[in-house]
Amino acid sequence: MTTEIEELRMPENGKREEVRETPAPIPFAPPSVGEEEIEALVAAVRSGWLSRGPQVAEFEEEFARAVDAPAALAVNSCTSALHLGLIAAGVQPGDEVILSTVTFCSAANVVLQLGATPVLVDISPGTLNLDVERVKAAIGPKTAAIMPVHLAGLASDTAELDRLAEAHELAVVEDAAHALPTRYPDGVPVGSGGRFAAFSFYATKNLTTGEGGMLTGPVDAVERVRSLSLHGMSRDSWSRYGSGGSWHYTVGCPGFKYNMTDPAAAMGRVQLTKLESMHRRRREVAARYDAAFREIPGVVLPPRLDPEHHGWHLYPLQLPEDPSGRRRNDFIEGMKARGISCSVHFIPLHTQPAYAWLPSVESGAFPAAEAYYSRCVSLPIHPFLTEAEVLRIVDAATTLIDPSPAPA
Ligand SMILES: *Cc1c(COP(=O)(O)O)cnc(C)c1O
Repeated sequence: MTTEIEELRMPENGKREEVRETPAPIPFAPPSVGEEEIEALVAAVRSGWLSRGPQVAEFEEEFARAVDAPAALAVNSCTSALHLGLIAAGVQPGDEVILSTVTFCSAANVVLQLGATPVLVDISPGTLNLDVERVKAAIGPKTAAIMPVHLAGLASDTAELDRLAEAHELAVVEDAAHALPTRYPDGVPVGSGGRFAAFSFYATKNLTTGEGGMLTGPVDAVERVRSLSLHGMSRDSWSRYGSGGSWHYTVGCPGFKYNMTDPAAAMGRVQLTKLESMHRRRREVAARYDAAFREIPGVVLPPRLDPEHHGWHLYPLQLPEDPSGRRRNDFIEGMKARGISCSVHFIPLHTQPAYAWLPSVESGAFPAAEAYYSRCVSLPIHPFLTEAEVLRIVDAATTLIDPSPAPA
């Protein structure tokens, strides 16, 4: 496997010669932020509302409309939204929450911080999302909720999870960090309907406010946790100090400091207006990758139902099988040597020391997650990718993928 930057190219005259190139590096996922966001941010700072204020209220309303959610609560991260979502869903200390082993660590962390126990479950190789049959097998007397992640932007089988949830009186709290804008198979957006969904506006996500998140769900339940996002106080400073406000407040229960700020919300509102065009570019890039890699033996494209419904937050390509993971690691090094940053989503939680003691890890088996992890690589996919960059990525990747069977 070559790792040097220079490439051998066949020039037009047919004479083979070495061409030394030092092209600009292609980052994995730079924030897709333009001048409009910067202007909105500055205007919000000038307005004097630096904490939760009118921009946050507007953003909540516009976001709820965009994903057709009954109610939305803006917070400082998806992690906070997941935490509040679990509380809103009634998860108590001692309960169990079922989640995929192929997800980000913060999903398991908030379950533990609630005093509940994460139950890690394997993925379905065909979707990379929770394996519904294994979820069924993991449901026990202590199970209180299922927390599916829509990996890469492909909606989980929520219809099937809903049926399980109804039969066993469980809540469903969706980790929608990758799922904006994602649609379920029936075409309605993730965030609509009765479940809780937590979105991420982290710097690399499909919509960014730098750091930020949104919890959507039923009106009553979302309103119940609204005060928890700001210390458990009955009213925020905007309603206390705004026109017609009063100084008085009540602390109903000890809450958290999870609120979003106005400058962040101002950015988010601009991002929301660009969501559709940014998503279109992600779909175009995904289609280019599909066409380039489809015919390579042993390569598995990211699963999807309808490519239009996929959020395309990530493009997780599965390289030809190699249980040792060596080929994937070499591939990432080779891409890096060519100035292209790739990533891996995710190192399965059951392999992390923080969760090794969980009963579901000690007694569980995760063959699908391990097979996926050994060969997956996330290629750069974002709205600012130029055609030249897509070509460079495709060129480098097709050169580096070795379709021969893995060495024994
Ligand atoms: C990014 C991410 C989160 C956490 O989002 P934050 O906004 O950074 O808290 C949670 N789950 C998944 C799957 C993610 O990718």
